[in-house]
Amino acid sequence: MPERPDLDYVVPILQRELTGLHIVGTRVKKPVVLRALGPIEGKIVEISRLAQVVVFRLETAVLAISPMLAGRFLLCEPGKKDSADLAVAFVLSDGRELRYRDDVQMGKVYLLSPGQPVPGLEQVGVDVLGPGWTRVHFSALCRSRRDQLKVFLMDKAAIDAMGNAYADEVCWEAQLHPKRGVRKLSPEEQERLFLAIPKVIGEAAATIQRRQPPLDEKLRDFLHVRGKAGQPCDRCGTCLRTVGVHGHDAHFCPTCQPDTEAKGMVDWRRVSG
Ligand SMILES: [Zn+2]
Repeated sequence: MPERPDLDYVVPILQRELTGLHIVGTRVKKPVVLRALGPIEGKIVEISRLAQVVVFRLETAVLAISPMLAGRFLLCEPGKKDSADLAVAFVLSDGRELRYRDDVQMGKVYLLSPGQPVPGLEQVGVDVLGPGWTRVHFSALCRSRRDQLKVFLMDKAAIDAMGNAYADEVCWEAQLHPKRGVRKLSPEEQERLFLAIPKVIGEAAATIQRRQPPLDEKLRDFLHVRGKAGQPCDRCGTCLRTVGVHGHDAHFCPTCQPDTEAKGMVDWRRVSG
């Protein structure tokens, strides 16, 4: 799933390649992803990221693509064979196509009026790599939360922006259990979290930028915990585990990230999975 570090790499490429071109047609292969009444056409004026969504500002409308779990972009010549996961192809005025691929079809392609908010993103939280990321703001944010750490980290209205993978990486970096109550974090734990968030997101973005993967490839081989349950922790060697957090799964290290609030003290080193 594209998350912010992926989009921070992809969006400038799309902006450079596509700004000024016109979308002159579409080929829709998976209509389920489409949230558009009427044709998607017009000159591309600007392309930007809004939380986890790619926003194409057209002259008279806004095309917003939320890749969700598995969406990815491909910019190609028109003759290239369609992949089985092709959802929508946008035909461009220079003859190329911007293809949106999505093998689980959970992403959404919205056609909006200018000024109309992207559904679910009426409010977007503080940019963790921007000047608004301050201890004062973060501390106030933490005090206002009644939820568990991973849920908080994935709330786009509070923080711009993390999904499953980078929320797990941040918890590991800060050495905090993903189910910790945000309001119960000590000042020292809050400080670790404050530093871990921009470190993890910034370093991931820099790594992807340096390695320059193809547009439709998602680089994740440098992550420490996400997708590595059952493997040894890079920090201490303990077997990484999975735990459910409000409908999401979280991957974590039971030694580096002890569950200090657990009722009955679950020893995660002894729980399988
Ligand atoms: Zn560990």
